[in-house]
Amino acid sequence: MTFADLGLSPELLKAVEDAGYTEPTPIQAQAIPPVLMMKDLIGIAQTGTGKTASFVLPMIDILANGRRRALMPRSLILEPTRELAAQVAENFEKYGVNHDLRMALLIGGVQMGDQIKALNDGVDVLIATPGRLMDLFERGKILLNGCELLVIDEADRMLDMGFIPDIEFICSKLPDTRQTMLFSATMPPPIEKLAKKFLNNPKRVEVSRAASTNKDITAFKVPVKSRQKRETLRWLLRNDLVETAIVFANRKTTVRELNKSLQRHGFASGEIHGDMDQTSRLRELDRFKKGEVNILVASDVAARGLDIKGVSHVFNFDTPWHPDDYVHRIGRTGRAGAKGRAFTFVAEEDAEAIDNVEKLTGAEIPVFGKKDVRVELRPAAEPRDDRDEEEERPRRSRRDRDDEDREARPARSRREKAAKPERSRRRRDEDDEPVPAGEWNGPKPDFLSVSAL
Ligand code: AMP
Repeated sequence: MTFADLGLSPELLKAVEDAGYTEPTPIQAQAIPPVLMMKDLIGIAQTGTGKTASFVLPMIDILANGRRRALMPRSLILEPTRELAAQVAENFEKYGVNHDLRMALLIGGVQMGDQIKALNDGVDVLIATPGRLMDLFERGKILLNGCELLVIDEADRMLDMGFIPDIEFICSKLPDTRQTMLFSATMPPPIEKLAKKFLNNPKRVEVSRAASTNKDITAFKVPVKSRQKRETLRWLLRNDLVETAIVFANRKTTVRELNKSLQRHGFASGEIHGDMDQTSRLRELDRFKKGEVNILVASDVAARGLDIKGVSHVFNFDTPWHPDDYVHRIGRTGRAGAKGRAFTFVAEEDAEAIDNVEKLTGAEIPVFGKKDVRVELRPAAEPRDDRDEEEERPRRSRRDRDDEDREARPARSRREKAAKPERSRRRRDEDDEPVPAGEWNGPKPDFLSVSAL
């Protein structure tokens, strides 16, 4: 199947070709034709499946003819987070190059003036987070009765974030005759109810849960004691051929502290979490995308749906409390055909969460074991791999004890900042084939008591 088979216009096909895509993904193949036929649609798909293009592409053709009017956007896309909204906007820019469509992005955390000006000039596509949209609507800066096309993206996330009442309100202000598309990774009852209320005889398309069944992602769980999590993470970052990694933690404070700790150990890391303003979040994301840092420590809300290409590893520093988040998190790797590895740390307090994850994905996640290690290992008696620390702190038990209170030691932190992670050793095996493991007492947390050669 090609994009041309889907009924898209020649201008759009050219833009798709220029973007480098030759074959539609399953969600695109199933969703684009009914949307072009102006049908309502429920798309059960998550990020990483190509779902954004599955609504952006047909929307561009649908909106190609028509007139803009001040304050009355012709279409509306609702996104749960500012980052996702920005990403959808990027998609419109990329695929809309051969069309004269005007777009506005209404997100919190940025100046309202330009947004209001764009609305006054008239927009074809309005991409918004519910909060900012409600704000402008209530101030009378926007009219929704000319909006004939609505996309509710990541609906289950909207539910988690408490946006459903806002969405119901917004839907009630749009004309009844509109076309509506709803995308969600899962369909919990409140989302089914929302769909029933606001969609008209929708076509339902579903693609498999990419992250849980994605053959390009190798997932492991790593049983570990809470206080060994940081050390375990550092070991894996240094020894699992990590190119780029996103490390997820459940709490914002953990994100902040973990990032500091990694930096102190010489890793090039950044952080992204909900307490940061929009500018700082985008700046951190940009540093990661540009490769200035290769590790991004993130919370779920901030990282939801981020399209970051080529992430080789995802680490769940904590097992996520919501099993759906597991699917979203590990979906950051193994995207669009690339291979990825995902490690989930499971301490005692994560036991219930991991059970829920395995129930949701319907499969037990294998425990990271000797056969899975990608470097040669030797017994614990030998010097350890993190030699940069070793010079400073020869005694292992001492290091264990110190790890958690290291934040309070600025003198050490300065020295450690200067130390670089030993990348060359990690690169020994560029072709990604596992190196046969040596003697090793894994899989349990003890696997730290061995060192890479
Ligand atoms: P999404 O699920 O929309 O977040 O998209 C996931 C990734 O797949 C993005 O990096 C897209 O640029 C990429 N992508 C979208 N459509 C295609 C396609 N037909 N072929 C290959 N990659 C695609």
